[in-house]
Amino acid sequence: MCGIVGYIGKREAYPIILEGLKRLEYRGYDSAGIALYDGENLKLSKTKGKVADLENKITKEISLNGSVGIGHTRWATHGVPNDVNSHPHYSNSGDLVIIHNGIIENYASIKEELIKRGYSFSSDTDTEVLINLIEDVKKNEKVKLGKAVQIALNQVVGAYAIAVFDKNKPDEIVVAKLGSPLAIGVGDNEFFIASDATPFLEYTKKAIYLEDEEMAIVRLKKGIKIRKIKDDSLVAPYIQELQLNLEQIVKGGYDHFMLKEIHEQPEAIKDTYRGRLNVKEGLIRMAGIDDNLEHILNANRIIVIACGTSWHAGLVAEYIFEDLARIPVEVEYASEFRYRNPIITEKDVVIAISQSGETADTLAAIKLAKSKGAFVFGVCNVVGSSIARETHAGAYTHAGPEIGVASTKAFTTQITVLTLIALKLAKEKGTISKSDFQLHLQELQLIPDKVKKALLQDEHIKTVAKIYKDAKNCLYLGRGFNFPVALEGALKLKEISYIHAEGYPAAEMKHGPIALIDEQMPVFVIATKRGHYEKVVSNVQEIKSRKGKIIGIVTEGDKDVKNLADHVIEVPETLESLTPLLTTIPLQLLSYHIAVMLEKNVDQPRNLAKSVTVE
Ligand code: GLU
Repeated sequence: MCGIVGYIGKREAYPIILEGLKRLEYRGYDSAGIALYDGENLKLSKTKGKVADLENKITKEISLNGSVGIGHTRWATHGVPNDVNSHPHYSNSGDLVIIHNGIIENYASIKEELIKRGYSFSSDTDTEVLINLIEDVKKNEKVKLGKAVQIALNQVVGAYAIAVFDKNKPDEIVVAKLGSPLAIGVGDNEFFIASDATPFLEYTKKAIYLEDEEMAIVRLKKGIKIRKIKDDSLVAPYIQELQLNLEQIVKGGYDHFMLKEIHEQPEAIKDTYRGRLNVKEGLIRMAGIDDNLEHILNANRIIVIACGTSWHAGLVAEYIFEDLARIPVEVEYASEFRYRNPIITEKDVVIAISQSGETADTLAAIKLAKSKGAFVFGVCNVVGSSIARETHAGAYTHAGPEIGVASTKAFTTQITVLTLIALKLAKEKGTISKSDFQLHLQELQLIPDKVKKALLQDEHIKTVAKIYKDAKNCLYLGRGFNFPVALEGALKLKEISYIHAEGYPAAEMKHGPIALIDEQMPVFVIATKRGHYEKVVSNVQEIKSRKGKIIGIVTEGDKDVKNLADHVIEVPETLESLTPLLTTIPLQLLSYHIAVMLEKNVDQPRNLAKSVTVE
């Protein structure tokens, strides 16, 4: 995820682009860059760091005049955040320049081909490959920029919102979209390009939102031409009158970042498996695993180290790894692990999980494990973060920036990455049958749509939230794969509503917590069809006999729990090992709505910080 901005018109482009980038920084802030055309020269300045760092640097590097320009604020996916990997990227001739939001999945094979044809690359990005592919097509086919972009995009697999400028054709910017957002602000013979409408709201309220697989040639005087990327056919532009204010647009129309991020999960999960999961070929490709396969397969055990929500993702992974790949797994709190003189050997593989990649305790635990000779694999969201650098290998979650302090999409994307790893190892070890492996791949690919379906329960969940918002204590119960989800559900409620909540394995209840149950106590029970269903139903009976209030998270069409519970919230059916990706959703929404009803600061709960860089 990143923010892109462009301008072509009669004003100075620089201040518009700079201010636009500042408004889009919520989309990523690894690095920033701007390219300007002053009627003669194409100038470019870019830097690692925030837009403010670019602002300090750019005046020393280039003159700021010019009424055409493009800018980028990056959330790295390919290549660490440094100056060279920052956007915009030039083509080899220096004539073309590009900004890109998204991932080109097949960049490696295209790059190889381009190198054979004499192209060279200064960055590690997929984006620099795309701009050179466009240049190559333009030269070989002897076509204009728009046509070259169209032909090139038909050769790439992945997601993109791009803006491309050619200094030999300075009256136009070519843009295209698939998967990532792209809006065009339409002024009076001036045009704005941006990831959302915030960069141009004060200049125009007229906007065109490109649809997937559409591209536009945005031309001074001649206006905008929209075409389908697949067949070049013309599309009539649909210009919308914007009603939203600045803040609403930054939050994607949602009231809080947390809610926006909850709703981003279908896309985030897709981004996580994009380029890795290939159902057709029955393959999982993950460079960090492929390159270290022997080492990982020969491990005596896997030790997962993490904190908070990431620790819960680790617990889910324990069930999945042991079930599918038959590798023993231990899950440790990083803060305990680092101080208890743990027994680690060279035959251990450590998986460290952290959204930010900066969690101090996890980082210290990694260093300890490395010092004892263990192989350490990182699962982080932030590219180039300390944990990504400190580990021997790793896999990014590609969830995009998570701004709400209470983690939501980071959790489900961590589970997605860990599931991919478990499946890959299971296949290599032969602990999963071919048909079961294929079934898992197919089901994983369906998860984003099923998450979407689970999100449709929002209004119903709000009604349930209203009934229980004044509870002083809550219990969350689950078994098997869904025990960690119960822990995560309780943590979410604690974090943002400040209501005391506990998560337990459902059967453990009778060993103590059952004493707490009375008619005041809401008990959220995850009781999906395949997960020890009958056993959980018995647990529900036990709560019912003690007059507890039961809210069941059940599989669509459930009858038994429905008959016993005070309320049920349905999620679509899937394989048992994948249910955490669905059962988590209603629990996130419940916490969110309760916190909003209690007028708490949902995005910045008291006493918490997004990235815990202290012990
Ligand atoms: N894949 C590109 C990169 O890593 C763009 C990432 C983004 O969307 O920010 O540079």
